[in-house]
Amino acid sequence: MATTGTIAEGAKLNMQVTPGEIQCNKCGKITTISFKETDALTGLLLFKCKFCDSTDTKIIKGKSAIVKNIKIETD
Ligand SMILES: [Zn+2]
Repeated sequence: MATTGTIAEGAKLNMQVTPGEIQCNKCGKITTISFKETDALTGLLLFKCKFCDSTDTKIIKGKSAIVKNIKIETD
C-alpha cells in the first residue's frame, strides 16, 4: 500500500457560506444576516432585528448548516 503523495497534497477546501434570514417576532420584518468568522464570537448580535432592534427573532433560513458544502478536490 503506497502512502506517499497523499490526497491532502492536492486538496482544496471549498467552503460556501450561506447567508441566513431572521424574522422579527415584534415587527415581522425579515433581516438578512451574513455569517463571518469574527461574528461567531458575538453571535447574539447577529440575530437582532435591524428595523426595531428587537432580539425577539426567529431564524427562518440558514438554521442548521452555515457551512453548506465542503468539497475536497484533487487533481
Ligand atoms: Zn423588528
